[in-house]
Amino acid sequence: MEKCAICGKKRPSNDIIHIDYTPHIICSDCFSKMIEKRVKRNIRFFGPLEKGVKGFLEGKEHNKKIATFMLKKFFHPSFFELADLKKNADLLINSKSLEEICMDFLDIVFHNKQLPTSRVFLFCDIPQEELHLYAKINNIKLKKPRTPDLPALLKPKQNRFSFASSFKTLVKLKQDKNHKN
Ligand SMILES: [Zn+2]
Repeated sequence: MEKCAICGKKRPSNDIIHIDYTPHIICSDCFSKMIEKRVKRNIRFFGPLEKGVKGFLEGKEHNKKIATFMLKKFFHPSFFELADLKKNADLLINSKSLEEICMDFLDIVFHNKQLPTSRVFLFCDIPQEELHLYAKINNIKLKKPRTPDLPALLKPKQNRFSFASSFKTLVKLKQDKNHKN
């Protein structure tokens, strides 16, 4: 039995999660809640979602499945629903993981591409492996995707988090500027 650093409960070792960027160990319930908290924070940051809004999910199938599970858990259908088609949606919801966002961001920086706007980047600061761990804990059945081949610069997870944080700030700045104009 090991003690969770968040709830303090003693849990069997198969119910304990080790995250490489913190020395603490946490139980699967607290891990799940931690991931959901980050996603809710991203919704508030890039959103907020308003009542009656229909969202369209972008991204690869496995992450869209995780995103759908969470959105259904967070919002009653009378408040927020997903649209089948992009043309029926008021809001784009992006389900790319931290790694995918970093790769996109590198592309934007080095190839002078435009920053995306008007999107809620649900998982922009959540590593793919943590999304899969979340799926496993919550019994979301997924086909395991290929792990992305990251450039050396993005190998340390800390670098990925810094990239994601700059990405978030820049997208938000652009969003706010567009709203003012
Ligand atoms: Zn716990």
